[in-house]
Amino acid sequence: MLDDADRDVIRRRLERLAAAVTTTAAARVARDRAAAALVRLDGGAFGLCPRCLQEIERTRLLASPAERWCVDCESDAQSDAPCRPSA
Ligand SMILES: [Zn+2]
Repeated sequence: MLDDADRDVIRRRLERLAAAVTTTAAARVARDRAAAALVRLDGGAFGLCPRCLQEIERTRLLASPAERWCVDCESDAQSDAPCRPSA
């Protein structure tokens, strides 16, 4: 469970990510994910996986606060992804 100090650390990291000036598509995606995480943090939905509705692991949120899904759901989603043809 995240405590207030954890939330302050996460908020500062997300605010820095969201404020970063970006030019590449990947950087824009990262910025948008950080901004969305800030909305979840302010709205009370932060830390809950929207797929399984379980709490996302504290260590995962502290390491990567813009993550939206828990590890299990992210792994499931990646394994469900369509195969790419090999080059
Ligand atoms: Zn999940």
